[in-house]
Amino acid sequence: MSELILEIVTAERVVYSEKIDILVAPGIDGELGILPSHAPLLTVLNPGELRVVKDGEETFMAVSGGFLEVLGDKATILADTAEDADEIDMDRAEAALQRAQERVASAPADMDLERALASVRRSQARVAVARRRRRRDVV
Ligand code: ATP
Repeated sequence: MSELILEIVTAERVVYSEKIDILVAPGIDGELGILPSHAPLLTVLNPGELRVVKDGEETFMAVSGGFLEVLGDKATILADTAEDADEIDMDRAEAALQRAQERVASAPADMDLERALASVRRSQARVAVARRRRRRDVV
């Protein structure tokens, strides 16, 4: 049977390396669903949430954008940053989101809009993934 190995790598570390069933990733043109035997693919990722299904269990991770390559039985994500729910400091992510939103709203003359919006999306993804952890802990 064909399989799918997911590796998530940043410049600092290997964040994740497991055999999985399904990957859903925030592709630049929308959500991408990857199953075993997927056709070869190379695409840019937006900052957002990654959803991984392994042995019937869902895991969510925040990714700051990067690249996704699918080749053979391997999906590789090269990201600037990636964190799973347990690694995310919710207070830090909420503070970063507020700072980023205020920056976009006040639009200082020297603002790089692309960069400011990427910062909003990055911290939004972290807050969303950390909230899922809280919900998971409640049930
Ligand atoms: P901040 O302003 O809070 O530093 P940022 O978006 O500027 O947020 P990044 O430059 O994307 O931060 O990340 C720097 C490093 O800190 C990376 O290693 C990233 O994984 C980690 N990191 C960023 N935010 C959080 C968080 N809320 N919880 C845990 N680790 C985080």
